[in-house]
Amino acid sequence: MLTNDKLAEWDRESFFHPSTHLAQFARGEAAQRIVTGGEGVFIQDRDGNKLLDGFAGLYCVNVGYGRQEIAEAIADQARELSYYHAYAGHGSEASITLAKMVMDRAPKNMARVYFGLGGSDANETNIKLVWYYNNILGRPEKKKIISRWRGYHGSGLMTGSLTGLELFHKKFDLPLAQVIHTEAPYYYRRPDMNMSEEEFTAYCVQSLEELIAREGADTIAAFIGEPVLGTGGIVPPPAGYWQAIQKVLDKHDILLIVDEVVTGFGRLGTMFGADHYGVKPDLITSAKGLTSAYAPLSASIVGQRMWDVLMKGTDENGVIGHGWTYSAHPIGAAAGVANLKLIDELGLVQNAADTGNYFWQTMRDEVGGHGNVGEVRGEGMLCAVELAADKDKRQFFDASEGTGAKVVAAMLKRGVIARAMPQGDIIGYAPPLCLTRAEADQIVLATKDAITEVLG
Ligand code: PLP
Repeated sequence: MLTNDKLAEWDRESFFHPSTHLAQFARGEAAQRIVTGGEGVFIQDRDGNKLLDGFAGLYCVNVGYGRQEIAEAIADQARELSYYHAYAGHGSEASITLAKMVMDRAPKNMARVYFGLGGSDANETNIKLVWYYNNILGRPEKKKIISRWRGYHGSGLMTGSLTGLELFHKKFDLPLAQVIHTEAPYYYRRPDMNMSEEEFTAYCVQSLEELIAREGADTIAAFIGEPVLGTGGIVPPPAGYWQAIQKVLDKHDILLIVDEVVTGFGRLGTMFGADHYGVKPDLITSAKGLTSAYAPLSASIVGQRMWDVLMKGTDENGVIGHGWTYSAHPIGAAAGVANLKLIDELGLVQNAADTGNYFWQTMRDEVGGHGNVGEVRGEGMLCAVELAADKDKRQFFDASEGTGAKVVAAMLKRGVIARAMPQGDIIGYAPPLCLTRAEADQIVLATKDAITEVLG
């Protein structure tokens, strides 16, 4: 198949790619890459390039490529039982085992796990459960959801609304009316340079309090946030942020949805970001790291106080009217079981902490001093290099110059994949959790040379 020289042409003629400039792609102006294989932290394409994947696909191939244990588990499952649904109490050995493994790893106050397919559908599930919960409690007005600017929660109708990035709203008539956005906890872009981290946290809390007062706490059901802002710029929160936010939510009886699609199952060097920051979620959204993307699967993990109300709801109303054909798909579940075992066996959560910290601190040492590097930040196996036209004034490049994209293209020439984040000139890194120090050094060197090539 891969020697078929029509493949490139068929791609341009037939394939609607996500997050792609459709017209440029169709005209042959935008890049095309046909990926053929992967091993460890490297992928290969059919032109013979071997690239170090510094973004683990889309922060998802956490155990790295080519893991035969997971491939075998998928093949065995497909041979034994390729599919059966999970409705009305049906399960498979894989889905039940995975449910147990997820709950064993989840924060203490969680009660059950619902399996879907990807991060967006898991967030859709979570918002429906929040609405159901308030209806069962006799609070039909308490329905609005607070999200943060620069948050990323998917690109469906509700989840695209929760996402706080212009690209995902523009021309799609989003966000929907039930969603309201509050301040991004983005210290580097704080409104006043003289603010300490603690003062900036207080500022975020005050903005949230003002929003709640304006809308009325009795109209607000939940707050959703990623432990570390991901697609919005890979931004760890300022000191004390999550504790302070949780206090406000508790005071106003607002549920907390922690979106751990990126951070779940080890990326921050802890099993969940909620543990990392010491918060108590009512719902956790997870996907990517659950199977390391060997098969599509997501998990909505439901906290005890919600679970009790959901059970009451079905006592009063009958079965819960929510489910998909592919919920808890046995092949996804088998991939999940093999993946979580591998994460434990290889000590990848610890490696995310150790090598991750080494990676972003080395990045800070090596490129942080460049005149156009405004900030290097990281947490666990996540890192971002934010570029600035004028570092001292925190003045950013004009978006039309595409500076971040140019640096990422220059890195690609050096055999390393990073991601130009969608809003701002931010170079993002989320390598597989099995990254070694030598591979981390390779990413740092490629970044340094690429910045010098593009910006001098
Ligand atoms: N939530 C977060 C934090 C994400 O980063 C993503 C995807 O990147 C999603 C939700 C949506 O997941 P999916 O693309 O699997 O629908």
